[in-house]
Amino acid sequence: MREDPKNAHLNDLKKRFALLADLGQAAGLLAWDQSTYMPSGAAAARGQQLASLDVLAHEKLTDGVVERALGELEGAYPDDSDEAALLVQARRTFDRAAKLPADFIEARSIQSSKAQQVWATARRQDDFGLFAPELEHMLELARQEADLLGFDEHPYDALHDRYEPGSTAMRVRALFELLRTETVALLEAIRASGADPDDTVLRGSFAEGKQEQFAIEVVKGFGYDFMRGRLDRTVHPFAQPMGKHDVRITTRYSSDFLSPALFGTMHEAGHAMYEQNVADSYQRTPLGQLTSLSLHESQSRLWENLVGRSYAFWEGAYPRLQELFPAALGDTRLDAFYGAVNRVQPSFIRVDADEVTYNLHVLVRFELELALLEASLNVADLPDAWNAKYEAYLGLTPPSDAQGCLQDTHWSHGLFGYFPTYTLGNLMSVQLFEAARAALPDLDAELRAGRFGSLLTWLRDHVYCHGSKYTSDSLLERATGKPLDAELYVAYLKRKFGALYGL
Ligand code: ZN
Repeated sequence: MREDPKNAHLNDLKKRFALLADLGQAAGLLAWDQSTYMPSGAAAARGQQLASLDVLAHEKLTDGVVERALGELEGAYPDDSDEAALLVQARRTFDRAAKLPADFIEARSIQSSKAQQVWATARRQDDFGLFAPELEHMLELARQEADLLGFDEHPYDALHDRYEPGSTAMRVRALFELLRTETVALLEAIRASGADPDDTVLRGSFAEGKQEQFAIEVVKGFGYDFMRGRLDRTVHPFAQPMGKHDVRITTRYSSDFLSPALFGTMHEAGHAMYEQNVADSYQRTPLGQLTSLSLHESQSRLWENLVGRSYAFWEGAYPRLQELFPAALGDTRLDAFYGAVNRVQPSFIRVDADEVTYNLHVLVRFELELALLEASLNVADLPDAWNAKYEAYLGLTPPSDAQGCLQDTHWSHGLFGYFPTYTLGNLMSVQLFEAARAALPDLDAELRAGRFGSLLTWLRDHVYCHGSKYTSDSLLERATGKPLDAELYVAYLKRKFGALYGL
């Protein structure tokens, strides 16, 4: 029997993407090691190894095999089939690689290393003027990239699409508009309430070994599989997937502050559980990769906030935490602890922000990067524009650029269009959690009892197993019955913090 030529092309394509997945995972392991245990003397050599794997992957993607197979196969499978989804993802990956010439990639990589170094110095010395020319250069490259990739409405769309397929500046603007008005009003009401939970209890003395023990118990309970993962320490926590069978997370401990390791570990475990539960059949295929950053972030936030900062969860988990830290927590009642971990306090720094104010930090960045990209805002005027927005949305003016527009590393990497995914992820986390709760009437009782199995199963079946078969929008509609809805998030904030602050 002669083989169907279509099958032969599909096999070529799958084989090539399996090779690319392996190269990507090998690079992932090198990068994990670079951030954890690599001796510092190996830095330059590691950079070369990673760059070589990158070059190799780019060659294997663009040498004609993928393009030929795509040309033969596109349109040949029913729209909702795995094959059709696989071709869409393969096309996305191929087009991005093919549209950006090698000399552009190289120029950007050189400029971005330089910009990152200068940014680090500028932040340390609180000297925006030092970073300004580098930021200008990164913006110029971002505009070029948008032109090379192509866009319909706004150059921002081409950049944002890389992290959030199909999303546009206009869509984000509409969602954020409602969020900004409602959040600013809620924050004003919280301030006017005069209530202010005491969170000093989180700043006692907490042995790091016991923090680690608790963090491991919690994420194991959630369902993070240590047979296919591990937890290490880094300054900047992250989750690193190398396929579903090896998804590692890191965290940082602070012996006089409980929150970073506690909620940081839940956050990274949320990312990791997503990866650990993608369908077996999607491994080493274009469908095994994440579909969008926001959907990924929705899962870290769901486990960190919707579960980990809920009253039901702490009803179950607090006695154990008290048992581990009797001196620091023995006299603090559950209600006070719950208030402490949910205290709303406007601050200058995004990564320290609570659930209410977090999105305002993201909104500031989104609005400013849009203006910078359009050149309707000059780089030299960024600090003033930044501070004005912090005053308007959060009611405070950063005392320095180091605590203001120099705080994040993203723009020095050229990551324009990335910030909105944090907030889109928050919105999705609530929408998905509420759909899960509607499907699982005993969910609160289960969280109280420390049982997370049915939540994980619901998420696995409705979100994780699908890999990147669907866009985040269509997955959300399938899982929750409606498109992304910022009102749900606003209602959640009002409900939770209204109760906490007696509004
Ligand atoms: Zn995250």
